[in-house]
Amino acid sequence: MTETDCLFCKIVDRSISAEIVAETDDALAFRDIDPKAPVHVLVIPKRHMASLAAADEGDGTLLGAVLLLARDVARAEGVEESGFRVVTNTGEDGGQSVAHLHAHVLGGRVLHWPPG
Ligand code: AMP
Repeated sequence: MTETDCLFCKIVDRSISAEIVAETDDALAFRDIDPKAPVHVLVIPKRHMASLAAADEGDGTLLGAVLLLARDVARAEGVEESGFRVVTNTGEDGGQSVAHLHAHVLGGRVLHWPPG
């Protein structure tokens, strides 16, 4: 399903450009336009899903595909051994600004915990 007004759906269908770094049948990875770390890639399901809160029991395979592509991106970006973080901001208090589920893959520097 593609949502006509969804920014990330437009990246999936290539009507908006992005620096795509990896892709599977079900998921897409592209560089964040405003990187917060030397490695900052977003991994999304190609099918529109507003957030993790919108996922249901039948979405396990798709969510797994997103996480496995996040792992592959970390490996390809050279941060698998040094370490990396996968974050899915969800909803207003979670800091989500784009209503299409996305996993931030962050690495290449020390990431402090908890985030601010
Ligand atoms: P969040 O705040 O967790 O919803 O994350 C949304 C992310 O999308 C932010 O880190 C933005 O910098 C990023 N972003 C917004 N527009 C674009 C775009 N056109 N291409 C790549 N990343 C984007």
